[in-house]
Amino acid sequence: MTGGAGFLGSHLCTELLDRGAEVVCLDSFLTGTPANVAHLMDRRTFRLVRCDVTDFVHVPGPVDLVLHFASPASPVDYLQLPIETLKVGSIGTSHALGLAKEKGARFVLASTSEVYGDPQVHPQTEDYWGHVNPVGPRGVYDEAKRFGEAITTAYRSTHGVDTGIVRIFNTYGPRMRPHDGRAIPTFIRQALAGEPVTVAGDGTQTRSVCYVDDLVRGILALAAHGHSGPMNIGNPTELTVRQIAEDVVAATGSRAGLTFIERPVDDPEVRRPDTSLAARELGWSPEVPWAEGLDRTVSWFRQVSSVSA
Ligand code: NAD
Repeated sequence: MTGGAGFLGSHLCTELLDRGAEVVCLDSFLTGTPANVAHLMDRRTFRLVRCDVTDFVHVPGPVDLVLHFASPASPVDYLQLPIETLKVGSIGTSHALGLAKEKGARFVLASTSEVYGDPQVHPQTEDYWGHVNPVGPRGVYDEAKRFGEAITTAYRSTHGVDTGIVRIFNTYGPRMRPHDGRAIPTFIRQALAGEPVTVAGDGTQTRSVCYVDDLVRGILALAAHGHSGPMNIGNPTELTVRQIAEDVVAATGSRAGLTFIERPVDDPEVRRPDTSLAARELGWSPEVPWAEGLDRTVSWFRQVSSVSA
């Protein structure tokens, strides 16, 4: 598991261990932290290795599955780390693919709904090619992931590696960083601090947000299935950013309300996965409703802020 000490990676490591797998987590801690997997350190079947996957990827012994999740993922991170983002999506992905080829393992690439850019097709189906500005500020992330998809496909066709590509839509849950710049953790942090929640633009742009447990179930179903993808995994319930902010304010009991700030450059207008492929092939659909996922996430943020206070 590359990027296993990050938000999604740490949940995937936990679930894989719970299902009886042996997990080697490779992470440089660029945007993740060992604290995310501290609860796994006393498990005999878990190993954490500090490693920048753009340097090399090596795991001794047999490997059945390579999950390649290493990459800065939040806009704050990839705007600060543009070269690292492009390198991990290109050189890092080719190293992780090399490991899968050497071991005869299945390989799953964490791609993203950002490959659709500011989409002109709604909802987004996997056969839509996207609308990405390669030289815009977000291009470093979107194009790194598009390259990652291309090289993954080339390893499948050229070397016969058993590959899968998952296009992950916005996911939220415990272990997101309060300052990572993504909307939900930012809103929760602000609301719990009694500050007004900052909505970009007029908040009419939409997002479809998936609770992390649903996403993990979908990814592991794809890993077990053998489908090549690309396959959308996300929650198709579409909410305006303003609605998300209002729900966070209500869930936290904040009295500070909302405030409106400038929209970031190339911020997508709409985002909603068409998940019929995942439903048909994997029998997968999200189960955790937004209100419940939000309550669980707010409880976790309350708990960590009370520990660090
Ligand atoms: P995250 O930043 O919490 O985790 C990424 C992890 O990768 C971190 O632990 C980081 O230290 C590690 N990493 C980065 N560069 C590395 C390198 N060169 N070598 C080794 N480790 C490195 O982000 P996340 O939200 O958990 O995202 C994980 C993956 O899922 C990313 O590939 C991201 O693009 C993808 N994704 C996430 C979302 C989402 O909503 N969270 C949506 C779409 C795609």
